[in-house]
Formats: sequence, C-alpha cells, structure tokens
Amino acid sequence: MEKRADNAFCAVRPPGHHAESGHAMGFCLFNNVAIAARYFQKRYGLERIAIVDWDVHHGNGTQHAFYDDPTVFFFSTHQYPWYPGTGGADERGEGKGEGYTLNVPLSAGMGDKEYLDVFNRILRSALKAYRPDAIIISAGFDAHRDDPLAGMNLTAEGYKALTRAVKEIAAEHAQGRVLSCLEGGYNLAALAASVEGHLRVLQEA
Ligand SMILES: [Zn+2]
Repeated sequence: MEKRADNAFCAVRPPGHHAESGHAMGFCLFNNVAIAARYFQKRYGLERIAIVDWDVHHGNGTQHAFYDDPTVFFFSTHQYPWYPGTGGADERGEGKGEGYTLNVPLSAGMGDKEYLDVFNRILRSALKAYRPDAIIISAGFDAHRDDPLAGMNLTAEGYKALTRAVKEIAAEHAQGRVLSCLEGGYNLAALAASVEGHLRVLQEA
C-alpha cells in the first residue's frame, strides 16, 4: 500500500491566532487552531496537542486560550517587539500550564538560517520532552522577506525547511500527525510560492 503522509492543510480565511475567546482581533474572528486543538482532544481523545506558530506576529489568542493548560503546548516565533505586543520570553504559562508556553521573540531581519536554527535547537528538544499526540501549525507566511506587514527575511525555501523540521518532529513523536492552518501572508506572490512549497513538503512520503 502506498505510504501517505498523515497531514492536512486548511486554506482558511480569515486567520485566527489573534482571536481571543471573548473578542475578535487583528483580522481574526475565531481562533481556528485553538478550536482544532480542542476538537482533537474531545472528538479523537488525543491528550497532548502542540501548536507551532511561525506567523511573524505573536499568537496572543492561542496563548491566551491555553495559558494555564498543560494539555496544549504553545510554541511561537515572532518579530518582537511588534504587533500585538505580547510574546516575551518570560511569558511561559501559569498555574498547571507553566512551562507549556514557549515564546521565541526575534528581532527584525532574521532569515532562513536563524529560523531553522531555532526550530532545530529549541523546538525539537521541547517537543521531544512533551511528546505531543498531534502537531498543529499556525502557518503564517508573513515572515517572508517580501511581506509588507513585518520585517523578517524568510524565503519560500526557508518555509519548506521549517515544514520539513516539523514533519520530522511529528514523525518521531506524534505518529506523523500534522494539521496546518493558514494564518497571515500579505504579499500574494510570496504567499502563493510559500504555500506551494509548504504543501509539496507536506505531501512528501
Ligand atoms: Zn501575522
């Protein structure tokens, strides 16, 4: 039987990671990845979900939803300081959720090499310890160097490398389960190229 990757991509609009449980924010109405994480838990009985948010903006809404909840691990790379202002490295969760929020704020100008280094050094070890049952990507492509809303320097090739890193982590610790949900991305040519590369890597066996 043909081996198929156990993943999916949702080309959703509007994005969701800024939406908090009580109010819309930053183009976002409902927090798609937060809802998906809870759905995985309630419908499929998965216990631990990891959310990897590589959108250039901090996923304040997702962090807020699970800040005191150890059953959802939230990891975010983002330009900092930048909109929406949250996402400092000292924001690590609270109560039972302490240590299950991992923010990696980055100064403007970071590119493929720096991002991949963060994923390989920090994300890999964090999720090796957490052993998630599934990984959800908050897949914002606005850290692309051509994006008008921020100042990062990722390329479509860089996004492919990040996708590959998450897939490898999922294969090792989460039975290969990856759900990717579109977040930001405001240069349409860069967005199209980045999403295409992302999908090609997700489809690799
Ligand atoms: Zn964004």
